[in-house]
Amino acid sequence: MIDPDFKAVLDGLELVDQPVLLRQRSRDFYWYSPILKRELDGKAAELIVVPHSVDEVVRVAAACARFRVPLGVRGGATGNYGQMVPLQGGVLLDMARLDRTLWIDKGRGRFEAGVKLADADTLAQQQGWELRMFPSTRRQATVGGYVSGGAAGVGSIRYGQLRDAGSVLALKVVTCEETPRIVELRGADIGKALHAYGTSGIVVEVELPLAPAYAWVEMIATFDDFAVAAHFAQALGESDGIFLKLDSLMAWPLPRYFMGFEDGALPEGKHVVFIMVAASDAGAVRCLVAERGGTVTLDRPYREERGQVPLYEYTWNHTTLQVLKIDKTVSYLQTVFPIDANIDALIASHERFGEEVMAHAEFQRRQGRTNCSSLQVLRYTTDERLWQIVAELETLGIRLSNPHSYILEDKGARVLSADLQLEFKRESDPYGLLNPGKMSRWQAA
Ligand SMILES: Cc1cc2nc3c(=O)[nH]c(=O)nc-3n(C[C@H](O)[C@H](O)[C@H](O)COP(=O)(O)OP(=O)(O)OC[C@H]3O[C@@H](n4cnc5c(N)ncnc54)[C@H](O)[C@@H]3O)c2cc1C
Repeated sequence: MIDPDFKAVLDGLELVDQPVLLRQRSRDFYWYSPILKRELDGKAAELIVVPHSVDEVVRVAAACARFRVPLGVRGGATGNYGQMVPLQGGVLLDMARLDRTLWIDKGRGRFEAGVKLADADTLAQQQGWELRMFPSTRRQATVGGYVSGGAAGVGSIRYGQLRDAGSVLALKVVTCEETPRIVELRGADIGKALHAYGTSGIVVEVELPLAPAYAWVEMIATFDDFAVAAHFAQALGESDGIFLKLDSLMAWPLPRYFMGFEDGALPEGKHVVFIMVAASDAGAVRCLVAERGGTVTLDRPYREERGQVPLYEYTWNHTTLQVLKIDKTVSYLQTVFPIDANIDALIASHERFGEEVMAHAEFQRRQGRTNCSSLQVLRYTTDERLWQIVAELETLGIRLSNPHSYILEDKGARVLSADLQLEFKRESDPYGLLNPGKMSRWQAA
């Protein structure tokens, strides 16, 4: 229960306390997982505060520390694992009004945490730059939510992962203490708050490196045979002379669920590779597709236009969403593949599970090499069968990054940054109020 004295301290701030809105705004996309749905349905904040400035964030953090009230943060609420769902009620900070782009200059940009990625990208493009990578939720997700809960995305085939050194230049965070501090994290210290689900600090500003803006082309290449398609996707990702932004492989019958394409773009029975490539290199992709026995069935300039769904909204975790729009019974897995043996593992898993685990791989740079991770769409039957499939995938060298858990450390977080985050949390959140229940190391300690 929220103490009336606590609410009085927040006087003058934008508050939301209508039960319907509290329930609506306390949810993310955890419902992809039948396991999380059971665990998280009904959880909600007791009060939402919408700060309009960093000073207001500081005021809320101070009040929560003084009254020992749990404090969570909401960006665009597009997370997949109940990352922002308040497990213990309390306050949810909605960052929607902290949405100023502070500056864009010489390949860098600094944004308040609530800036939508689409807005950040568009503003950068107006000055000849663009985001190096974004999640396929570009149109809804925020800069702060991406660095706090995201991992990779469109652009990762060229620029790697969000956790790679250089992918984030600085984070400004507010601590949760009676007298909150504002801390600027740079270099290795970024790991203290990066991908921490807001458990170690409230991110109020993010500085990102930008890439030169390119004109992009969207293409679909189709193949009769899954193994041929998989080898093509790997070869494309390894083609250093071809400047890519997206290289996504989806096995049939996934394309059957994709609506909104012109006739002939997704032929019956074909496996597909969705591609975004710099316009100058589109010809080289067409040649590679032909060399590998595929067919280009869609070839158009990339534009963010009303009425046109960008190709990337069928990739990354949008693939699962497109299927869920038609078949509510499916769920998904999230896995990482052995370096240099990813294609063999991918083909072996496709042959073993067929349509029960519909193969979907996102190619990306990992540790300097072309690899893939996977968001396989699963015909879910029971939890027992799900864990049996996971165990069998592990025998092929394919490791789960568990999407059926809201625990931070279950996502394969590197031990180094998990330790760093725990250590930082001891000073930044001494009462354990920030997104409680998500960091298992804190509960254990
Ligand atoms: C259809 C679909 C496709 C997706 N595709 C991708 C993808 O390609 N790549 C990818 O990495 N992810 C993907 N995701 C997951 C998610 O969309 C991204 O990680 C996104 O960047 C999250 O941003 P958000 O603003 O919605 O964050 P939210 O969901 O609001 O929050 C995510 C986490 O960060 C915390 N948080 C949010 N803002 C702050 C802040 N300012 N300070 C501290 N903590 C904060 C929240 O408490 C929560 O723990 C996908 C999800 C869906 C549903």
